[in-house]
Amino acid sequence: MLHDATPCDPPAEDRLILLGTKGGPRPSLLRSNPANLILSEGSAYLVDCGYGTTRQLLLAGVQPHELDAIFITHHHSDHTLELGPLLYQAWVGGLRRPIDVFGPPPLATLINGFFASLWFEIATRMEDEGRSDPRQLVRIHEIDAASVVLETANIRVTAGQVHHPPLRHAFAYRLDTHHRSLILSGDTAMCPGLVALARRADVLVHEVMRVESLPKLVAGLPNALALYAHLLASHTTTEQVGAVAARAEVGTLVLNHFVPGDDPAITEEMWLAAPRRVFEGTVIAGRDLLAV
Ligand SMILES: [Zn+2]
Ligand SMILES: [Zn+2]
Repeated sequence: MLHDATPCDPPAEDRLILLGTKGGPRPSLLRSNPANLILSEGSAYLVDCGYGTTRQLLLAGVQPHELDAIFITHHHSDHTLELGPLLYQAWVGGLRRPIDVFGPPPLATLINGFFASLWFEIATRMEDEGRSDPRQLVRIHEIDAASVVLETANIRVTAGQVHHPPLRHAFAYRLDTHHRSLILSGDTAMCPGLVALARRADVLVHEVMRVESLPKLVAGLPNALALYAHLLASHTTTEQVGAVAARAEVGTLVLNHFVPGDDPAITEEMWLAAPRRVFEGTVIAGRDLLAV
C-alpha cells in the first residue's frame, strides 16, 4: 500500500475485476481469455488483453476510451491478441487523452503493426469523419527490466521479472494504491522473483495449472509432446501456487489463468484443494467478471 490503511475486501473505491480467466490462446465459452481490470479512485487500469477483452470490459461497465493505462505481462497471444482492436475501439469511441501502454518489447512493433494493417480504414475515417490520428493517442512504454513503471498520487505500479521460458521478458505487476496492494502474476513458473514482488501483498492473483488434466488437454494435438513440455516448464501447478502464496505471506490468493480453462469436468473444489493444503490465507477460485 502507498500509505497505512486497513485492507478491506474489496474496497468499494478500489476493485479488481477478473475479465478473463482462461489460460491459453484458444477461445472458450466457459471462460474468456486473460484480462484484468483495476478500478481505483476514478482511474481504470487493464492488465493483459486477450481475445474477448473488449466485450468483457463492456460487461464490467467500462468503455475502452475510459481506460487510463494498459499493462502487458508478456507476448503470448492470449495476453495480447485484442490489444490493437481495443486501442482501435478506444479511438473510434471518442478517446480524447492518450492511453499509456506498458509491456516488454516488441510492444511498439505490435501496436504500430496493428495500426499499419488497418491504415486504409483509419485514414478514411480521419478524412471523412474528421477524426484525429490514433497513433498520437497511444503512448508506448517498452519495459526490459524490473522497475517502477508508473507512479502517480494514487497508484504505484511495479514490474517484476518472472520465469516464463522461452520468453526473455515476462513480467508480473504489483499495484499499490492507497487502499491495498495487488499482484498480477502474469504467466510464470514458480520463481523467487514473484515471491519477492508479492511480499506481504493483500491480494495475489496467480496463474494456475492442473497437471493431472494436461494429458487430456494435449491429446490428439499434432504438437502434443512439445506443448506438454512447455506447459510443465513455464507454468505454476495447483501444488506449487499455495506454496508461492505462503512464502510471500500474502493475505488472499486468487487463482487465475486456468490451464486447462475449458474443461467442465474440473470443479472449483478441485482447483482449490491443493493450494488450501499449504496456504492458510483465503483462497478464491477466479471466474470471469468476479470482483475482488
Ligand atoms: Zn497465458
Ligand atoms: Zn504465456
